Amino acid sequence: MPDKKREVIKVEIPSKAIRVQHATCPHGHNLMDSEHKINGYPSVAVLARYQDKEGLIYLDPIYGSFKNAMEIDVPEGECVEFFCPTCKEPLTLTRQICDQCGANMFEIRLPHHGLVAGCLRNGCHFHTLKLADGENLLRSLDEDHTLDSFL
Ligand SMILES: [Zn+2]
Ligand SMILES: [Zn+2]
Repeated sequence: MPDKKREVIKVEIPSKAIRVQHATCPHGHNLMDSEHKINGYPSVAVLARYQDKEGLIYLDPIYGSFKNAMEIDVPEGECVEFFCPTCKEPLTLTRQICDQCGANMFEIRLPHHGLVAGCLRNGCHFHTLKLADGENLLRSLDEDHTLDSFL
C-alpha cells in the first residue's frame, strides 16, 4: 500500500486521561482481561517471557500509569518479550527501539488503526500512543473545537 501523506501533530493531554479499552494483538485477539482489574478497569493481558520463564503480565489500562501486575519475577532493568496469549504472536516492535534506553519495544493495536507502544525493559516507562485515524479524530471534536481553534 502506498504511504499516504501525513502530518504529525503533537497533542498534549492531561496525564492519565486516556484509558485503553479495546486492545488487540495483530491478529485481532482481544487482550482485555476484565477478571484482572487495575485501577478498577479491565487490564491488558499479554504473555511475557523472561529467560526460561513465561507468565501473564497485566498492564495498567490507564495510559501513563504503571500499576502493572506480573505472574513472573522480572528484575528491575531486565527486558522481557511479549506475546499474544491466544495465538502467541510476538508483540515486539521491529522498526523502533526505546528512545530512552535502547531496548526493544512492544506494540498493541487499538481501534481505527491506533497503536500503543511501550518499552520492554522493566522499570523503563517510555511509551507512545498513536491515534492513527486522524480524520475520524478531527471529526469527533466538537464543532466549536476544530483544530483551527488550537492553532
Ligand atoms: Zn493473537
Ligand atoms: Zn526503555
